[in-house]
Amino acid sequence: MTTQTRKFWGWGVEEADLDDAQKRELARTMAQRFGLSGIEPVPPPRIEEIALPAPRIRPPDSLAALCSTDPYDRAGHTYGKAFKDVVRAYARDFSVAPDQVAFPRSEADVTALLDWCSSANVAAIPYGGGSSVVAGIEPDVGDAYAGTVSIDMMHLDRVLEVDPISRAAHIEAGIYGPALEEALRPHGLTLRHFPQSFEFSTLGGWIATRSGGHYATLYTHIDDFVQSLRVITPTGAVESFRLPGSGAGPSPDRMFIGSEGALGVITAAWMRLQHRPTFRANASLTFPAFTQAAEAVRAISQAGLYPANVRILDETEALNNGVADGSVAVMVLGFESADHPLDAWIGRALELCRDHGGTVPQGAGGSTDDPSVSRKGQAGAWRDAFIRMPYFRDALVGMGFVSETFETAITWDRFPDFHRQVMAETKRVVEQVCGQGSVSCRFTHAYPDGPAPYYSITAPGRKGSQLEMMAEIKAAASETVVRLGGTITHHHAVGRYHRPWYDKQRPEGFGRALAAAKKALDPAGVLNPGVLIDPVR
Ligand SMILES: Cc1cc2nc3c(=O)[nH]c(=O)nc-3n(C[C@H](O)[C@H](O)[C@H](O)COP(=O)(O)OP(=O)(O)OC[C@H]3O[C@@H](n4cnc5c(N)ncnc54)[C@H](O)[C@@H]3O)c2cc1C
Repeated sequence: MTTQTRKFWGWGVEEADLDDAQKRELARTMAQRFGLSGIEPVPPPRIEEIALPAPRIRPPDSLAALCSTDPYDRAGHTYGKAFKDVVRAYARDFSVAPDQVAFPRSEADVTALLDWCSSANVAAIPYGGGSSVVAGIEPDVGDAYAGTVSIDMMHLDRVLEVDPISRAAHIEAGIYGPALEEALRPHGLTLRHFPQSFEFSTLGGWIATRSGGHYATLYTHIDDFVQSLRVITPTGAVESFRLPGSGAGPSPDRMFIGSEGALGVITAAWMRLQHRPTFRANASLTFPAFTQAAEAVRAISQAGLYPANVRILDETEALNNGVADGSVAVMVLGFESADHPLDAWIGRALELCRDHGGTVPQGAGGSTDDPSVSRKGQAGAWRDAFIRMPYFRDALVGMGFVSETFETAITWDRFPDFHRQVMAETKRVVEQVCGQGSVSCRFTHAYPDGPAPYYSITAPGRKGSQLEMMAEIKAAASETVVRLGGTITHHHAVGRYHRPWYDKQRPEGFGRALAAAKKALDPAGVLNPGVLIDPVR
């Protein structure tokens, strides 16, 4: 077995990063696309080049064996994986590195770490896979704390029990996506939750951020799969009952799902599972315009068909992903079942697509038990580009580009005007700040009452000014999204980056209740200060 090395400064593992030839090819392609010259790949940071501030705190002797000040550990726990994070990594700026990185091996270790943090005024930052794109794990907590400790949950990584009768499993929070699926496979079961970051993110991180999986309808967020939770807070453990549903007051699980490490450390969860799908039906089709494709998605969502995938890519997004020539919008449609053939479902969905101007390729849409179908054709091309994209993004940032995404959700009645205005405002600000650039949209998820649009920006930036350029673009786009009634995030979470807009979106009374909950569970205000809600200390 080959061992791979996690990049301390960006997405994924060093071994899978673009090689020099791929980077040069990318530079050439981007120079051609934007009519630029002098685009050169730059070397990524090396750990020996990073000057970290001296640790300000030391753990008590009883916890010393769990804690590390190794530069690789500290640098690797400084940033998530957003554009802004990678820009600062290329600038060799790791000035907000955690003072200590702790690797608890048990729930008792987590309790002891939180006791220490509460009594010593140390900010405690729960860490899953570090794939946050909203600065959820960045120890940038200001001067009010004696220091910071990143609590990496990687050793709490077991599937403790599988209940095949109720189709559920008791799973520790630090387990990564691939290991989790590997453990469930012999039981013929799957969590069937595949965020794009699946490979490098954890169950606890998904629950703490209300992550959205790859499947576009029905079970979209991790919320849908949580049966019960166990959370360690500075005032003790909180555990909910395992139930298929309950009307006993507000749900305790709902309080912790999406709590982003600000209320406690999720150590384990009972998760609802599904049988592994055996029947599949897929089709890729085109539409003359994105708006028509969107109307087809609405019709499918409201017909009760619940496709596993009903992703639409606008003309630019389809071009950028290499699945069309930029003149048409593309829909990738897919159904899955562990129980029945899907001809009737996909047949009806394709009928609805035709009604809305979709061009369906001859013979598309038959049900099959061949699992490789989703890896072929436009769907396969899109999937491959999707998986590799974060590596390309890291390289682009090094070349001085501005490259970021934002995502939201909005009801169908407001979607057309919302989308028009968000696109117009984002293009305007991108052109103002960068001179030119590409802004594109796809749907990640679709509900009977509205879609979740996902916008991507790629534009030439100026090295040394990329952070300011993106801050201006992000602010304009976020203001527009929230002003028009969209959510500041459908699944990327709030973290530190989305705070200004989340604070506007959050109802005032709910904000007070959340602050009171934080005070009750984390009286010293040490848990992940800066995300979601400010501690009252
Ligand atoms: C390339 C890329 C693709 C992405 N695709 C998706 C996607 O498809 N869908 C999606 O929803 N998101 C996506 N994300 C965002 C990110 O992967 C998710 O937010 C993910 O859920 C974070 O999981 P993690 O284990 O990496 O958590 P981390 O990034 O380590 O932490 C995220 C937040 O959760 C808290 N936290 C982590 N573990 C625990 C715990 N055990 N207890 C309490 N709090 C905890 C942290 O304090 C932090 O606030 C993507 C990110 C990248 C870089």
